[in-house]
Amino acid sequence: MSDYELKEMSLEKISSLVKNRDPDQTEFRQAVHEVMEHVIPFVKDHKRYQRSGLLERLVEPERMVMFRVPWEDDEGNYRVNRGFRVQFNSALGPYKGGLRFHPSVNLSIIKFLAFEQTFKNSLTGLPLGGGKGGSDFNPRGKSDAEIMRFCQSFMNELFRYVSSDTDVPAGDIGVGEREVGYLFGQYKRLTAEFTGVLTGKGLAYGGSKVRMQATGFGLLYFLREMMKQKEESLEGKRVIISGSGNVAQFACQKAINLGANVISMSDSDGYIVDENGITEKKLKWIKELKNDRNGRISEYAKEFGCEFSEGKPWGITCDVALPCATQNEIEEDDAGELVKNGVSYVAEGANMPCTDAAVKAFYEAGVVYAPGKASNAGGVAVSGLEMTQNAKRLSWSYDDVDEKLVEIMQTIHKKCTDHGMEDGRINYMKGANIAGFIKVADAMIAQGHV
Ligand code: NDP
Repeated sequence: MSDYELKEMSLEKISSLVKNRDPDQTEFRQAVHEVMEHVIPFVKDHKRYQRSGLLERLVEPERMVMFRVPWEDDEGNYRVNRGFRVQFNSALGPYKGGLRFHPSVNLSIIKFLAFEQTFKNSLTGLPLGGGKGGSDFNPRGKSDAEIMRFCQSFMNELFRYVSSDTDVPAGDIGVGEREVGYLFGQYKRLTAEFTGVLTGKGLAYGGSKVRMQATGFGLLYFLREMMKQKEESLEGKRVIISGSGNVAQFACQKAINLGANVISMSDSDGYIVDENGITEKKLKWIKELKNDRNGRISEYAKEFGCEFSEGKPWGITCDVALPCATQNEIEEDDAGELVKNGVSYVAEGANMPCTDAAVKAFYEAGVVYAPGKASNAGGVAVSGLEMTQNAKRLSWSYDDVDEKLVEIMQTIHKKCTDHGMEDGRINYMKGANIAGFIKVADAMIAQGHV
């Protein structure tokens, strides 16, 4: 980069580049802003990264695929949804990132998730590039046969762009083991190959032990490291968790194991408050409710005699808040409520659940906050381990994988500490952004201007 370009380089410049290109992509622009806020000052201090076009390439996906997904419902009606796969950055390895099925899905959301995934995957230390995909299909209320037909039709197009060496999708909101199974079955049928093209598979056909638990467990392993810095532990702490899907369920399970008192979980209708604490037995009931019966969290309140309220849970007094549902679920006002009620730690299980203003409010109030790209990286880390096991055609034990997960989360925590120290405290967002950037940028520089 010339001296002129370097002087001109600023957060505003990168933000307006992205804005001019995609003015409507608010989530993507938000994610770029959050990362570049830390990366640009770092680049200004490090000559090695002052390369013409490096940051511009970093904010533009290598490839985006959008396609029609026609499928037939149980009444014989033909329906059409839109499918996406954004292959953002392959500097470190094959594109890797989940598929989301939710009516809110659009290109901005998939691009923000794929961009974040690039830095998250870098932090894991594994050879994984960044990608994400999905559809605006709404799985709520659909029969098993409809889900299968939809997944098959989705794969009928997606199979052209994925393989165990180019792009390896996994699950996300609305895509769990069942959907991964249907997608995998169709890929196998279309290609006549049995390979590790997807992760999050069932244990019977190449899945990894601990993959299902990995994001939630990893979140708690990361939180444990955050608390160690302050010589604190989870024992007896009041914890609230949003969501009641995959990440929330296993975050709750590990929090209970570590001695916390989990008092709230939620879904898109509202939240429950159980002052007696969610026990392992009650959590088992929640898993059956959500995973087998497609039920609503409000039913918990009736079953266990506690309160259910519509809206978000952030007004509840707690020591620890773990947002595990969706993006932008903690806005500035919610952060204010949490701070007022004494929250000490916020660790993201979901991707970008806190808005920029919420993150700033936590930082100013001295709340210890961890961004999802660091604290929820356990899921993709074990996906990476699943790819290794598939490539070697072997299967590691539960304890082996769990141990590796703990190690990876500790290493990510250390990277955040190494790069995020600021005024005697750790800025986890800064640490994660810079550590994630360095590895991707080094690989991009080494591979030339492509
Ligand atoms: P699930 O589909 O299993 O669960 C999602 C949960 O969030 C459900 O309880 C759902 O409620 C709730 N939810 C979804 N949308 C909204 C909304 N707009 N408002 C309020 N609640 C909502 O998804 P996961 O648990 O897999 O994913 C949750 C988050 O974690 C996502 O941000 C995802 O990107 C992130 N993540 C997931 C990983 C994984 O391994 N699965 C890895 C890393 C991050 P309802 O049932 O009512 O829809």
